[in-house]
Amino acid sequence: MVLAEVIIEYPASSLDRPFYYAYNENNNLQKGVRVKIPFANKEIIGYVYQVIKKEQTKEEFEKENGYVLKDIIQVIDKEPIINEELFLLAKEISNYYFSPLISVLKTMLPPSLKPSTTSLSKPKIAYEQYLEVIEKDISSLTNKQKELYETIKSQKRIKKSSVSYSIAINLLKKGFLKEIKEEKYRLITKTNENKDFNILNEEQENAKNEVLKTTNQIFLLEGITGSGKTEVYLHLTKEYLKKGKTVLILLPEISLTYQVIKIFLNHFSKIAILHSSLTNSEKYDEYRKISKGEVDIVIGARSSIFAPLKNIGLVIIDEEHSETYKQETAPYYHALTVAKMRQKQQEFNILLGSATPSLESRARAFKGTYKLLKLTKRYKTNLPTCNIVDLASLKEVDEKSIIVSKTLREKIKERLANKEQVLIMLNRRGYATYITCRRCSYTFKCPKCNLPLSLHIDENILKCHHCGYNSKMVSECPKCNSPYLRTGGIAIQKAEQELNKLFPEAKILRLDSDVAKKRLATKAIIDDFQKNKADILLGSQMISKGLDFPNVTLSCILLADVGLNIPSFRASEKIFALLTQTIGRAGRRNNGEAIIQTYMPNHYAIQLAAKQDYETFFLTEMKYRKIASYPPFSYCAILEISSIDEKELISS
Ligand code: ADP
Ligand code: ZN
Ligand code: ZN
Repeated sequence: MVLAEVIIEYPASSLDRPFYYAYNENNNLQKGVRVKIPFANKEIIGYVYQVIKKEQTKEEFEKENGYVLKDIIQVIDKEPIINEELFLLAKEISNYYFSPLISVLKTMLPPSLKPSTTSLSKPKIAYEQYLEVIEKDISSLTNKQKELYETIKSQKRIKKSSVSYSIAINLLKKGFLKEIKEEKYRLITKTNENKDFNILNEEQENAKNEVLKTTNQIFLLEGITGSGKTEVYLHLTKEYLKKGKTVLILLPEISLTYQVIKIFLNHFSKIAILHSSLTNSEKYDEYRKISKGEVDIVIGARSSIFAPLKNIGLVIIDEEHSETYKQETAPYYHALTVAKMRQKQQEFNILLGSATPSLESRARAFKGTYKLLKLTKRYKTNLPTCNIVDLASLKEVDEKSIIVSKTLREKIKERLANKEQVLIMLNRRGYATYITCRRCSYTFKCPKCNLPLSLHIDENILKCHHCGYNSKMVSECPKCNSPYLRTGGIAIQKAEQELNKLFPEAKILRLDSDVAKKRLATKAIIDDFQKNKADILLGSQMISKGLDFPNVTLSCILLADVGLNIPSFRASEKIFALLTQTIGRAGRRNNGEAIIQTYMPNHYAIQLAAKQDYETFFLTEMKYRKIASYPPFSYCAILEISSIDEKELISS
């Protein structure tokens, strides 16, 4: 008998152990495949963790152990769904983050390979059918048949779908043609390789050479916005491919992914892409390409760190300070932590890139744990000059607008007249941050969190930004039935309305997570803006990082205060990074300008961001962190323990 240790699909820590099942078929059972198994009167999915060959029969085993052994109902995969390296990695992550192994495996695998009943839709491999000729005397054929035969012969092979079906079928039957079936991948990425590489400047060249010198090291590439970090990534990739190694590139935002992919496709061809806008079939295909070793570059978001890429030479984590590298649902992994775990097995270099490194990373570079590489200059232009506009000043706001100051209005007008583009960032979703009744002061609140609900006018709903609760917007106060409701707190949809009113001649695009929900909307907006089809791009933090728009000469933060007053020791660091990054979008080909609007013009994070002075910010912030013993002077961990029974919770 074969005994299988199976971990089951339920991600509960109490079930996070192997269960035993018997397997009696003649064919081999492999470790790492998914199986259908009976569990508590249900048929569920499990993952075969271990296969043990027993001399005993099932009956002998049951007698010895005193329980009934159930049988595996069905083996789902022909081959293991992950390789040994990734399986060991899953175990390490499970231990490190106290997460059930099954939930780690589910995170690592593309949707269609997850060990779970709900995702068991059988991803099917797509095929393309081709026709080839069989060498024969064709004098017996009709003219049309001859014609097709000759066409196929001259092209060696032809897609079946591209020729006349009836003629082809006839020739196939008569044995003049043969059919060939080949796996095809659904995601079509147009490569335009062999474009020339730019020549690196001295700083870039230095950085590149430092990385190539050693292995198993972590580098921090601190380069001001627009200093050409992406260029360094490109050149390094070329060098690693030359050595026969592969390269994994992680990016923080889907919006940025499109641009970087485009750049890489200009120089390389064997690339797999993994990000959230792909369909499940596309994800499955990309995953298969990687596991079969058909690509040597993988570009994607956080979870690409689990790509089954072998022979890795370099892992690049771009915009390393980005919060998106940490997953906010179980397992709560950080991509860099996982990269370090993989580094122990594969011995590659890790390159972290940012204009505003996280304090943790920068402190490690300071101590020499990471090797610091710096890019201090932009390739052609200077950093934008930045003005801080005090929104409390009566000179700046009037009845025309309370969001767009006079200074900003003037600057935008200039840009529109010059046919240059403007980037405007406001990191607040929806239209208004609260709604109250003018008569009785009732405020709409989330029934679960008791926090004010935001109004989203696109869908006309009220939303809780904390828990996601939402309800339809109503026309009168639920308490006193008054129809006079007041919206307050400026969010991005309201800003869009105001900008449209102030600049009716301008074409304005908006990009935030609400807009981005629609598949491929992000790509369309970024493409259009890049092609100069719009004058103003208004966006959330999604537009702050990494994007390279040549024609943007003015970049603006509508309200820098958003997020600065939240009770988190990271608040200043986050705002500093967000402002610095947003300012950095301007003037990348011709010199540019930036504007920060705020009610707190004297805040150090705002002042230093305006100067793009990371070094002073780092030193200042480190002092505050030291006084309060916050990271990087300590480690923080959140332990979440939950139960429906309070007493039981406390006692356990
Ligand atoms: P970063 O990623 O640091 O923000 P990018 O790599 O996007 O900067 O570079 C900013 C701009 O400068 C890009 O348009 C890039 O093509 C250009 N650039 C950077 N380095 C070079 C170089 N060595 N030669 C030519 N152009 C460069
Ligand atoms: Zn009321
Ligand atoms: Zn809520």
